[in-house]
Amino acid sequence: MFDKILIANRGEIALRVIRAAREMGIKTVAVHSTADSDAMHVRMADESVCIGPPPSPQSYLSVPAIISACEITGAQAIHPGYGFLSENAEFVQIVEDHGITFIGPTAEHIRVMGDKITAKDTMKALGVPCVPGSDGGVPDLATAKKIGEEFGYPVIIKATAGGGGRGMKVANSAAEMESAFMTARAEGKAAFGNDEVYIEKYLTTPRHIEIQVFGDGKGKAVHLGERDCSLQRRHQKVFEEAPGPAISPEERDKIGKICADAVAKINYIGAGTIEFLYENGEFYFIEMNTRLQVEHPVTEGIFGVDLVREQILVAAGEDMSFGQDDLEINGHAIEVRINAEKLPNFSPCPGKITAYHAPGGLGVRMDSALYNGYSIPPYYDSLIAKLIVQGRDRAEALARLERALGELIVDGIDTTVPLFHALLQEPDIHSGDYNIHWLERWLAEHMAD
Ligand code: ADP
Repeated sequence: MFDKILIANRGEIALRVIRAAREMGIKTVAVHSTADSDAMHVRMADESVCIGPPPSPQSYLSVPAIISACEITGAQAIHPGYGFLSENAEFVQIVEDHGITFIGPTAEHIRVMGDKITAKDTMKALGVPCVPGSDGGVPDLATAKKIGEEFGYPVIIKATAGGGGRGMKVANSAAEMESAFMTARAEGKAAFGNDEVYIEKYLTTPRHIEIQVFGDGKGKAVHLGERDCSLQRRHQKVFEEAPGPAISPEERDKIGKICADAVAKINYIGAGTIEFLYENGEFYFIEMNTRLQVEHPVTEGIFGVDLVREQILVAAGEDMSFGQDDLEINGHAIEVRINAEKLPNFSPCPGKITAYHAPGGLGVRMDSALYNGYSIPPYYDSLIAKLIVQGRDRAEALARLERALGELIVDGIDTTVPLFHALLQEPDIHSGDYNIHWLERWLAEHMAD
């Protein structure tokens, strides 16, 4: 086992990793920009290294700075968290070339899944159901129009290198194809340096269902059921739950086994998420994320396992601490993402926290790097807290969420907490009757500026 690991991240996820490492008796090294000298992850780690100025490209994304921090402190492994360098195959290669262990999948797995066309081809070959669409890249507008006719509108044009909701455009008719095709290409080129696009049938009322998988890198893999992350704004998740209210145990076992078998076959190592759209009882693969996800705590809650601990175990060459037969769902968990943003426009709202009180009690988990007097810097993601609640069933989890939100105090800045108070008044949220478009429609109706 490692003696010391470095966490190449900040905020709540850096804390999350430090906590797992501490329980395992592993020392931790935090890295930080000059804007984060007073950040909680710096205070909680055993050691810290300043790696550069506030802009991420010069600090949290600076590969030489992070490798040097490892060498100076003698850290044997790097946990990347999510975002930043977590899905950067080149970084993983450099880390390994320096004799440091990357806590996550291999550079090759990241590369394959990072290109959406290759990912889809790979999954298809492994028996995973995919959204019908173009087989591979679409070279020009004429081909795009032909595919539109063949599959029937609406279709979605996606940049193969896309991510975070960027590089995707819907065409509702042949007339809309030209602009959608050109825009998706241009966005792919501008944001990811790759203008290759592909086309999929646009599903009109799907839910977003993702399967958590975990592999030991030696051909063994398990699944930890699904998360329903259908409540999204601009393709970004805001509310996640497990198990999915629309998924039956039989469906879970079936799709879960397909996913576990697929990643076992490629000797996948560590945590991964296979994302699907789910409509009329069918699953359609959209992408695989080769990292720990923001919403992993809902899965940890219902299965009672620590996914970060398992990541560290398998990265050190040890066995996973559980097998498929040890995994049993217990109750229902919900996570809400609390952002430093001002409603109704969701404009970023960094600033000084003048008062902070985290909720507590049975079934409440608060993953946050906030503290009283902390100043949220303007340079990074606006996620400031994840409130995760768990109950014996969904109704209990929802009641607990309302109670916990009521206890939370974050003064001095605006947050998205009022959004969740309002959502909890909605019958559809209580019945679980929503799809990926529900929240956008609700926002247009209730939060028009
Ligand atoms: P990203 O990598 O940018 O997150 P994804 O491929 O995971 O892109 O898609 C993000 C979201 O876009 C999905 O959760 C869903 O809301 C929507 N989406 C993607 N593909 C389709 C599709 N074929 N039909 C309908 N909606 C889609």
